[in-house]
Amino acid sequence: MTKRLWIETVGCQMNVLDSELVVAALRRQGWEMARTTAEADAVFYNTCSVRQHAEDKIYSALGRIREHKRQRPGLVVGVLGCMAQKDQELVRKRAPWVDLVVGPGQLHRVPGLVDEVLAGGGPRLEVSLDRTGGSRAAIAESFESYDPDRDAGMRPTPFQAFVRTQTGCDKFCAFCVVPHVRGPEQARDPATIVAEARKLVAEGCREITLIGQTVNSYRWSDGGRTTRLADLLVLLDGIDGLDRIKFVTNYPRDMTDDLIAAVRDLPKVSHYLHVPAQHGSDAVLERMKRGYTIGEYLEMLGRLREAIPHAAVTSDFIVGFCGETDAEFQTTLDLVRTADFKNSFIFKYSPRPGTKAFDRQPDDVPEAVKRDRNQALLEAQAAVSLAGNLRFIGTRQQVLVEGLSARDERRQGGQEAATESPAQLQGRTMCDRIVVFDAPLRLVGRLVDVDIQAAGAWSLAGDVADGLADAVPLPDAMPPADAMPRAPLFAERAAAESGPLYAIALPAAKASHGPGTTRADTSPGG
Ligand code: SAH
Repeated sequence: MTKRLWIETVGCQMNVLDSELVVAALRRQGWEMARTTAEADAVFYNTCSVRQHAEDKIYSALGRIREHKRQRPGLVVGVLGCMAQKDQELVRKRAPWVDLVVGPGQLHRVPGLVDEVLAGGGPRLEVSLDRTGGSRAAIAESFESYDPDRDAGMRPTPFQAFVRTQTGCDKFCAFCVVPHVRGPEQARDPATIVAEARKLVAEGCREITLIGQTVNSYRWSDGGRTTRLADLLVLLDGIDGLDRIKFVTNYPRDMTDDLIAAVRDLPKVSHYLHVPAQHGSDAVLERMKRGYTIGEYLEMLGRLREAIPHAAVTSDFIVGFCGETDAEFQTTLDLVRTADFKNSFIFKYSPRPGTKAFDRQPDDVPEAVKRDRNQALLEAQAAVSLAGNLRFIGTRQQVLVEGLSARDERRQGGQEAATESPAQLQGRTMCDRIVVFDAPLRLVGRLVDVDIQAAGAWSLAGDVADGLADAVPLPDAMPPADAMPRAPLFAERAAAESGPLYAIALPAAKASHGPGTTRADTSPGG
């Protein structure tokens, strides 16, 4: 009888990719996806350890699944990924009904381990060595790169895919657990990366996002020849049928001129760069062991903006790191107000066992202060993001259509939408800005031009441009523009993202773009 799998994934893009691969491997063994946990033969949680909150969520999910396991002892409960590597035996101490605990470096073993559990072999724990558990080579070997064949059906959309450039991390920032749970940095062979990208494109993938903990530190040496990220981008840019290439996450010090030039010059490479600053103060950056000063970060940002003036740069920030004073926090606030980040991901410091900060620096900023600083920084960034997005009103942007907008996703409630009737769709510009617009669902997976009519802090809204060459919907399938509901429901989106809501500028009349109108030279790059 067919077995059914339910999998929940939290955390970063690496986890999304790992889940895709685990599911693909099980599907090849005849498993199918369950629609609910109640009909599942196995329930997996692919976990994150980067903050305490991510772990708490998983332990409460394990609490909820306990009753299922009591009623159906044959149900296989699995904890995969970073929390499995970090907590190891502790997972089963806290939740003895868990059958499988598998770290991110052992995921290739999941299909075999599930079979063993189903055959009555009892619970299994498979993790890699920890960072002091042996020679570098031995530790690296215990974190096996997990790169089996891909299965397009397992991705959120078949036309977008993550491709791993490296596993692990060697930066050892004082706050960060990643080097401990994902092991030493190990690059994948460029030939393997390019072959995987070609295969994805042959299966219909149009956008590839390269992922590594510090993706721009990529380095592969082979017989005296070294391949860096810039070289890899050149190879990928040459793949016919691929439209867009993105890469995350960048380490500020490795943002070299050759990489910036490659981003500027290669037509398929997105001018979107996620380069986390983490903090605005030299003293805090030093305590964080980030390895650069704020002056060096700004110098990097200056080089980047000089080469690519409209580049969309995003950052991560941690508030309330050990010993952070009001004056130190103010430097982060000033940075956010002046650096024109497209967006910032803001986190309250969460002490992680095993890290240098956990061992040596007290977590002494009160939770209420962290919360206030988090809120103040969010508001500062939202104002900057809104100002940045308002510059797009009246421009035409090329958008890769991803699917229903968050609003219509909820409305649809899992029902199939008619491919010809207009729905509110969502896509992204080349620079990763979210755009919502009304159009038939069959445009999903296509590149369309959208005339931007409105902007909020977190997204743009507009109308599919007239006279579209390949993607224009059949005229009779589209009601007249005036009859269509106004697209942006920013209040809902903002509420969903729990960010503050800002004003929307909505021009009364549509910006007129006749047929043959090209993108204005002055338009931001998308
Ligand atoms: N190397 C990857 C993943 C790091 S985790 C990257 O740079 O994106 C993603 C973000 O989480 C980090 O950039 C940092 O801002 C935040 N983070 C990491 N450890 C944290 C901690 N202990 N507490 C709060 N935020 C943390």
